[in-house]
Amino acid sequence: MRAYSSLSHLECSRTSKTYDADVVQGTSEVGAPLLARYDLERVASTVTREEIAGRGPDLWRYHEVLPVREAGNVVTLGEGMTPLLDLPAYGKQVGVPGLKMKDEGLIPTGAFKARGAAVGVSRAAELGVTGIAMPTNGNAGAAWSIYAARAGIRSLIAMPVDAPEITRTECVVSGAELYLVDGLIGDAGKLIAAAVAGRGGYQDVSTLKEPYRIEGKKTMGYEIVEQLGWRTPDVILYPTGGGVGIIGIYKALLEMRELGWLTGDLPRLVAVQSTGCAPIVEAFHAGKAESTAFPDAYTIAFGITVPKALGDFLVLAAVRATNGTAIAVTDEELLAAQAAVARAEGAFVCPEGAACFAAVEQLRASNWLAEDENVVVLNTGSGLKYPGTVTVDVPTLPVDGRIP
Ligand SMILES: *Cc1c(COP(=O)(O)O)cnc(C)c1O
Repeated sequence: MRAYSSLSHLECSRTSKTYDADVVQGTSEVGAPLLARYDLERVASTVTREEIAGRGPDLWRYHEVLPVREAGNVVTLGEGMTPLLDLPAYGKQVGVPGLKMKDEGLIPTGAFKARGAAVGVSRAAELGVTGIAMPTNGNAGAAWSIYAARAGIRSLIAMPVDAPEITRTECVVSGAELYLVDGLIGDAGKLIAAAVAGRGGYQDVSTLKEPYRIEGKKTMGYEIVEQLGWRTPDVILYPTGGGVGIIGIYKALLEMRELGWLTGDLPRLVAVQSTGCAPIVEAFHAGKAESTAFPDAYTIAFGITVPKALGDFLVLAAVRATNGTAIAVTDEELLAAQAAVARAEGAFVCPEGAACFAAVEQLRASNWLAEDENVVVLNTGSGLKYPGTVTVDVPTLPVDGRIP
């Protein structure tokens, strides 16, 4: 019989020590993220790219390289296979006519966090977890509480008071126990860790403190390559906070290469941050393997306000291994890019995605990007989740008024 998943074991991302994948796990003994490993030889001999092409349009089409063992344990709201859109007008404006956008704004919850939540919650429930707990900058908490509701498990969430307001609503409507904290995501993390230790009955599913969120996020990499006809683009830009998405995309690329599923060199991976919170960009340019906590972090691109990421060393390694780079843009630059993309292409991207567009402009201006390159930007969420980023200053007319 063909197995639904070819998950074989977990591996420490620092020491390569292996761990049992069929019990609930957090980080490794040295406190590093655990990465899921699969029997890729078996996958390569049991499924083809042609067969995958005929499957349903969601991320579970890659189930052999996802951790859920039984198809019946999949908790889904239809996430994945988001469009990869050409941006001919904006691309031409910034001198990269081959620019494309992977639009995660169309996914359940309006942010790509749904991918990590779908796979993370499915696997947690499969392993018998009955409650998940996490700190969040908003979108992850919203996604995990929504998928937890669908799985019938409890969720306990803490987020900064400044996190996008809609994400509070999403947590509350799906029945999460939600707390706000007058601080940053790290402060929320301390509250959650203490509550998990004190109460029992909850798994701490903080960023990279459980192994399966990254597995959901890596499917962005599989989809980009499949949507390009199993070819790689030249460059992928990713708005980097905790870094799970970019680490996941890199992991997906390595897996696909081992599976013989992709043609072409690996794309150069670009980690984009805001100048208001750029620990990974600083570490990259300083030649360091890890970042130091970024002081007084603030950016309008709330999803990438992560002053010190647990997986920073993995982001830096992925960027360096692919000859990529790391770049920070200002809030003004990303807001200008958000407006420019909306006017040229009719796409209302989130501020984090907009940061990547601002980065494309700068990398093209410095010739790091060449005009003929195929460039993919991850728009990680919908602009609809951040209505406050656009100032609406229009006249209100009296009912008997006249439009000039
Ligand atoms: C969380 C988030 C990010 C950052 O994602 P990581 O994978 O943790 O780096 C980017 N954009 C949006 C909209 C987010 O919610």
